[in-house]
Amino acid sequence: MSRTRLELGRREDLGGDCANCFGLCCVALAFSRSSDFPVDKPAGEPCVNLVDDDSCAIHDRLRPSGYRGCTVFDCFGAGQKVSRQTFAGSSWRTDAGVRGEMFAVFPVMRRLHELLWYLDCALAFTTDEAIGTALAEQFESVRRLTAGEPGSVRQIDTDALYDQARPLLVRASAAHRSTGAGSQPDRRIRPGADLVGVDLRRVDLRSADLRGALLIASDLRGVDLSRCDLLGVDLRDANVGGADLSSALFLTQPQVSAATGDPATRLPEGFDRPAHWEHNALT
Ligand code: SF4
Repeated sequence: MSRTRLELGRREDLGGDCANCFGLCCVALAFSRSSDFPVDKPAGEPCVNLVDDDSCAIHDRLRPSGYRGCTVFDCFGAGQKVSRQTFAGSSWRTDAGVRGEMFAVFPVMRRLHELLWYLDCALAFTTDEAIGTALAEQFESVRRLTAGEPGSVRQIDTDALYDQARPLLVRASAAHRSTGAGSQPDRRIRPGADLVGVDLRRVDLRSADLRGALLIASDLRGVDLSRCDLLGVDLRDANVGGADLSSALFLTQPQVSAATGDPATRLPEGFDRPAHWEHNALT
């Protein structure tokens, strides 16, 4: 399926490019005072740390300053799409007329780009011709929607699109996992499982289906997650030191950034190794 993916998939367009964005995630989105942010900020109001050139004044000290949430956020390329394509380079700073619509379009575009990411992931691993064709069609259909005018993009029912894509992503995952190594004798290992804080170091997670599971603060040190379906899995503070995530399915950069790894953690090609992992010792 790599041929189809090369034709349609633009994974390089599905990651944030802050240099070509008008700081949209720092303005359009709201955040609440919590362990992720030190203050409340309403949607549509610029963060106090956003500089006039749309850079962040505390970029190199976000975590110590209490802005951990910013270090795990990824717009999947929606920021530059909205800034440069949907609004053709008109910034909310200089054109007050685009502000409201731009801030409404951005979260919709982010959801669309995240869906493109999942479809692109499946296109990359599937070897089933029929599934690959259906994935390519859905990818192209969603991609066309992202190219619409602001007024049409903001009206898109993203929940309906996810509902439409989900069965296909599940099929692609099941077909791929069925050909990989691994056994799942542990009844706890299932989609949507609550595995918060659980020690999983002795569980065989190869080719497991953990879609939508809660793995917050779980212990995954040294675990082989080859072909393990991690779509929507909450990996906040999960210890992935020495774990092999290099061929996990539907893994995203925000999931990786929210987890705690170390120099031995294996990541898929193209993923950034979070800066906050640097000081973690090898286990
Ligand atoms: S702290 Fe920096 S990255 Fe976070 S919202 Fe504010 S300007 Fe953006």
